[in-house]
Amino acid sequence: MARIVMKFGGTSVGDCDRIKNVARRVKAEVDRGNEVAVVVSAMSGVTNQLVDYCKQIAPLHDAREYDTVVSTGEQVTIGLLSMALQELGVQARSWMGWQVPILTDGAHGKARIETIETGELERRMSGGQVAVVAGFQGLGPDNRVTTLGRGGSDTSAVALAAALKADRCDIYTDVDGVYTTDPRIVAKARKLDKITYEEMLELASLGAKVLQTRSVEMAMKHRVRVQVLSSFVDVPGTLVCDEEEIVEKELVSGIAYSRDEAKITLVRVADRPGVAAAIFGPLADANVNVDMIVQNVSEDGKHTDLTFTVGKADLDRATKVLSEKQASLGYERLVPDSNVVKISVIGVGMRSHAGVAQKMFSTLAEKAINIQVITTSEIKVSVLVAEEYTELALRALHSAYGLDA
Ligand code: ADP
Ligand code: ASP
Ligand code: MG
Repeated sequence: MARIVMKFGGTSVGDCDRIKNVARRVKAEVDRGNEVAVVVSAMSGVTNQLVDYCKQIAPLHDAREYDTVVSTGEQVTIGLLSMALQELGVQARSWMGWQVPILTDGAHGKARIETIETGELERRMSGGQVAVVAGFQGLGPDNRVTTLGRGGSDTSAVALAAALKADRCDIYTDVDGVYTTDPRIVAKARKLDKITYEEMLELASLGAKVLQTRSVEMAMKHRVRVQVLSSFVDVPGTLVCDEEEIVEKELVSGIAYSRDEAKITLVRVADRPGVAAAIFGPLADANVNVDMIVQNVSEDGKHTDLTFTVGKADLDRATKVLSEKQASLGYERLVPDSNVVKISVIGVGMRSHAGVAQKMFSTLAEKAINIQVITTSEIKVSVLVAEEYTELALRALHSAYGLDA
């Protein structure tokens, strides 16, 4: 007998027939003699709709009330799935975040899970009851509902698996595993049997939304065996695991893209000590995260151009903060550009092999794609290019690194 956490995303619970399909999959695990907890998302499109309602009422809304609204989607699906399981003769009970409770910090809209009190769940699960738990939500120190950031049900599932010391955490979704790149954009993308925690963490944080970044961090920390698989077809998925478990290591294991970034260039900034601190300090104070940065050497020793990226959602705020400080920062012009995409090549093999970055640059050059900003780390290279090249760049790089199926 094993203890298993199964998680189903929005498309997998997108209508009543799909919820019944999920119930059959859960029943199959129960029939194998396993103890099962299920985490579900809201039906597809519901959370987007709820977020949109909040924006329509107040563009800069209270984060506590945002959480009150957007957490409701999951309440519907836990109730419906519990009913569907009961219809199949399976004992099941729904659980909202506060009922478990799943305790988080107080960062409304992007809360972190701190502890999950599993006592009551475990008692019921060992008595044969399936626990159907709402993803994406928890209870904050202010005794109010919190949400975990978009895509957060993955994190709910992995955190629950860690707290329950589950044997497996199976993430069921609308693709049958983790691919070398987004299979919806590159038809030749190849499914990976296994991927390391580290590579999955980079893929997720660089834009592959198949798993929320925090869920991978949590899986890595607690060594949860996570499997990504399809809720529609019965084929083996992808196992996220330690590097030692992977025999054939690829040089490059995946390519990710993110359309969530925007670029800001400050033209003719005074080139003197303290300028970077004077620019990035106020941005940090305004809660704007800066990602890629390039600063050119000044020709005259007095002025330089500084380019960096921020989240697209933060572009207006960043522009406002910097415009207010134009006089003291002494730059000539601020040029915002949200027509960009960040493309990243990821692989643990890069640690020991040279030439990965060079191949990326030459491949993009052959397609006449101009690189605007570059950043690297031990296992990834990222470039910023104009957004219209997303598909072309992804396909060309995918072939160049020999990843095509
Ligand atoms: P769910 O609603 O089940 O959580 P998501 O939409 O959040 O599903 O994540 C699944 C989607 O992630 C897929 O439909 C796919 O388009 C996208 N995706 C992006 N990159 C990858 C990748 N490397 N491998 C698999 N899927 C990816
Ligand atoms: N329903 C939430 C969202 O759409 C959480 C999730 O799907 O993981 O972001
Ligand atoms: Mg998701």
